[in-house]
Amino acid sequence: MKVPQFMPYVDMEEWEAIKSCFEINWITEGPKSKEFNKQICEKVGCKYGVFANNGTLALYLGLRAIGVGPGDEVIVPDFTFIASANAIEMTGAKPIFCDINKDDLQINIESCRSVITKNTKAIMPVHLYGFAANMDDVMSLAKENNLLVIEDAAQALGIKWNGKGCGSFGDVATFSFFADKTITTGEGGFVCTNDEKIYEKLLYLRNQGRINRGSFVHPEIGYNFRMTDIQAAIGLKQLEKFDDIVYRKNNNFKIYSELLKDTEGIEILQPRSEINPFIPFRVVARVTEESSSENIMEYMKEKGIETRTFFYPLHMQPCFKEIMVGQKLKQENSIDSYNRGICLPSFAALKHEEIEYVCNTIKEYLAG
Ligand SMILES: *Cc1c(COP(=O)(O)O)cnc(C)c1O
Repeated sequence: MKVPQFMPYVDMEEWEAIKSCFEINWITEGPKSKEFNKQICEKVGCKYGVFANNGTLALYLGLRAIGVGPGDEVIVPDFTFIASANAIEMTGAKPIFCDINKDDLQINIESCRSVITKNTKAIMPVHLYGFAANMDDVMSLAKENNLLVIEDAAQALGIKWNGKGCGSFGDVATFSFFADKTITTGEGGFVCTNDEKIYEKLLYLRNQGRINRGSFVHPEIGYNFRMTDIQAAIGLKQLEKFDDIVYRKNNNFKIYSELLKDTEGIEILQPRSEINPFIPFRVVARVTEESSSENIMEYMKEKGIETRTFFYPLHMQPCFKEIMVGQKLKQENSIDSYNRGICLPSFAALKHEEIEYVCNTIKEYLAG
C-alpha cells in the first residue's frame, strides 16, 4: 500500500467551475473573486479582505499595510513555516524568534514577552497544525506593550479560539490557499482586517497605488497582488465542500487517536478545549526520545508511507545566520519538538484502511 502525505480534495466540480469563467469570458479578478472574498470574510468573522497571490505575499502585504518596515522588529515563533519569517525580512524589518509551548506547539507568551525591545513593532502569532495560538494572551500582551498583531492563519481557516475566528483578532491576519491548506485555489492568499484605514492601505498596495483599476493617476506607490477569477471559481467550489472537508479531517484524526491511544512510545497531540471547531491541518505525533522520529520515518518510508518532519527551528536555519546575530534566546521547546515530531498522512480523502495501515506500521516498528 502507498499512502501519500497529502492530496488536495478537488475533482471535476472544480473543473466545471473553471469552465464557467470561460463561458462568461471573465478570467481576471472579477465577479467570482468578489463573491469568494465575501464568503471568506464571513467564515473568518472579519469586515474587510483582499486577495494576494499566495500566503507568503499575503503576509508581506499585511505587514506593509500596518506599517512594518526597516528598523522594526517583529516577534515570530521559532517553530513555523519559514515563510512567516521571510515575509518579515522582505519588508526590511527583522524577525525575532521566540519559543513555543511544548504541549500545543503554539507561540509561548512568556518567551514572546522576554524578547520585546524598544524596536518591537508587532507580534506574529502563527496558528499551527489545526490548533490555535492563545489569542487572549497574545492580544493582552500586545495591548500592554502597544504592539500591533498580525496573525499568520495560513493553516487556520474556519478554526475558532474561544468562539472567535482565527484571523479576526489581530490588526491584520493572513490565509493561504496552497494545495495542502484546508481549502485550495492552487496558489492564493488572503489578508483580512476589521480596520477601515488598514483596509484602504491594503487596496492601494495591492493595486498599483490606486483604489480602482482603469485610472492612471496613482496617489500612492503600490504593486500587483491580484488573483484571478479562475482561482476564485475553484475557491468557491472548495467552500461548498468546507463542512465535508472538516468532517473528514476530524474523523481521520479521531481514528488515528483511537488506534494509537494505548501505544507506548508515540502520542497524537490533541487540541486544547478552547479550540472549536478544530480542523486538523496535519495529524501531528510526538515520539519519546528512545523511539527516534528519524528511524520511524525511515521505516514508514520503506513501507510506502509518506511522512513529514516538523518545522526545522528557524534560529538554526542556515539562511538566518545573519539575522541571528545578537539573538541569544534558547528555543528549547522548538528544538525538542523538531527532534520528536512526525506529521502523519492526513487529508480529506484518506481512507480508514490507509489509517489502519499507517498505525499498524508504527506499532510494528515500536514493537521492534
Ligand atoms: C503555507 C503557509 C504559509 C505560506 O503560504 P503560501 O501560500 O505557501 O505562500 C505561511 N505560513 C504558514 C504557517 C503556512 O502554513
